[in-house]
Amino acid sequence: MNSLSNRSLVDIDRDNLIHPVVSFRGHEKHGPRILESGQGMWLTDIDGRRMIDAFAGLWCVNVGYGQESIVAAATEQLRKLPYATGFFHYGCEPAIRLAGELCALAPEGLNHVYFTLGGSDAVDSAIRYIVHYWNAVGQPQKKHFIAQVNGYHGSSSLGSGLTALPHFHRNFDLPRPWQHHIASPFPYRHPEGHDPAALIAASVGALEAKVAELGAENVAAFFCEPIQGSGGVIVPPRGWLKAMREACTRLGILMVVDEVITGFGRTGPMFASLEEGVSPDLMTMAKGLTSGYVPMGAVMMADHVYQGIADGGAEALPIGHGYTYSGHPVSAAVALECLRLYQEGGLLANGVDVGGTFAAHFERLKDHPLVGDVRSRGLLGAIELVSDKQARTNFAPELDVAGRLAQLTWDNGVIVRCFANGAIGFAPALCCSHGEMDEIFARIDRTLEQLLAMPDIRAAMR
Ligand code: PLP
Repeated sequence: MNSLSNRSLVDIDRDNLIHPVVSFRGHEKHGPRILESGQGMWLTDIDGRRMIDAFAGLWCVNVGYGQESIVAAATEQLRKLPYATGFFHYGCEPAIRLAGELCALAPEGLNHVYFTLGGSDAVDSAIRYIVHYWNAVGQPQKKHFIAQVNGYHGSSSLGSGLTALPHFHRNFDLPRPWQHHIASPFPYRHPEGHDPAALIAASVGALEAKVAELGAENVAAFFCEPIQGSGGVIVPPRGWLKAMREACTRLGILMVVDEVITGFGRTGPMFASLEEGVSPDLMTMAKGLTSGYVPMGAVMMADHVYQGIADGGAEALPIGHGYTYSGHPVSAAVALECLRLYQEGGLLANGVDVGGTFAAHFERLKDHPLVGDVRSRGLLGAIELVSDKQARTNFAPELDVAGRLAQLTWDNGVIVRCFANGAIGFAPALCCSHGEMDEIFARIDRTLEQLLAMPDIRAAMR
């Protein structure tokens, strides 16, 4: 074993740290980009370079970096009681208060919360509770789950089969035979995408057809994101979520809305479901819950699901689902402070206000020769680059537009998500000022001009 002191951070990283969602060999060559500190919208790396973060870490730091009141809340809780289990009827004040606040803020009917460590285990918990529920209410044959193409529901052994991104399936023996996917409600690429009403009808039709194929009596639940995030920020037409809710009710299947990205002001309101008056049967959340300052997620459950599970066995039998860190007091204290910052702290309102500037930049970029599609809601959006605007063709994979964009944006000091198909994803923190939003897009404009000036990119364009 090498002694740590003789090795640089880069070497230790290459030798010892497995990074999420990279090619192992690719990362060995690329090496890490080591971030050191953050303040507001800005990050500084280990070499002292300052960058504006237009992606809120990984669409999670909704309050921005350096919020001292969160540091104080965490520190106070660490001193007072750093850990309390929720097992065996124990509990702690922050987790109980947080459960109460979330139930007050969430869509009507979501009256129960189970806390997790992040989004993947919130999805995993939802799957487990749904299986338990249908067994408990005497419909044990309801085992099939339906999700959507381009959907992302995390990386747990079960959830990653509902995720529909090929890298999450390849060599992982997924999806399982009980996991199914219907078409994505993607306005830019769906055959009915030009007409919002037709696209909504097509989505409802696809769900009905899949349920008919499997038999409604065999289908447990439908999982969806209000806006598909990791699949490329795909924004369905307004009214889509409500139509899917109504379809699930009609079909007798549970609806799980995965608000891991869209929750906590990302699209404007506290939850995207609220905007359409949708009450899911279960709702998953994470990211903005603690703004990434410490890990935490949650699955919320409607009363009828809770009651079904509660009455499903002998009264004294425990429901065997639990994590050591469920309802962790420090995470809960941080979440409570985040909720205060979103509301009394004015961050939700600021997000809506600066969202106007965000949308205006998107509108302007529509006319750029490289841009085929722009799509956004609130402070969540993407621009998709194409080689042929008319035919909506993405650049050929061998041109590695995503890799070039990742390098150019890094060199230009702006952090965004560069999707493999050449889309650029944005999720700036809710604390962003109008001036900072302009700064983000000045750096994006520069990036697009630099890409456009590359001879092979120009040659590929029609
Ligand atoms: N669900 C959605 C919609 C997500 O976007 C994510 C993460 O990006 C997850 C679940 C998984 O969350 P986590 O990475 O916290 O496990």
